[in-house]
Amino acid sequence: MSEKLSICPFCGGDDSADNAVMEAAVFLTDFRSAIGTRAYRVKCQICDINGPASHEPRLAIEAWNRRHSEEQEPSTFERMMNNG
Ligand SMILES: [Zn+2]
Repeated sequence: MSEKLSICPFCGGDDSADNAVMEAAVFLTDFRSAIGTRAYRVKCQICDINGPASHEPRLAIEAWNRRHSEEQEPSTFERMMNNG
């Protein structure tokens, strides 16, 4: 996964592993969707927010990066419970 993730629009955390928390704040993760399929999204673990979900990692990254560049509506980010 070499695609660069945009920084978190809320905390400015990035996907490098050398920030204050010693691991990437923003990273791609996968989860089981409501219909039982694997889905992907970019997550900021500092803010506990998730970017748009997609069935493909690349598309989830693109959605996160695009969302960030448009940026004006951070409230449209999903805020989800951390239920693993
Ligand atoms: Zn953040």
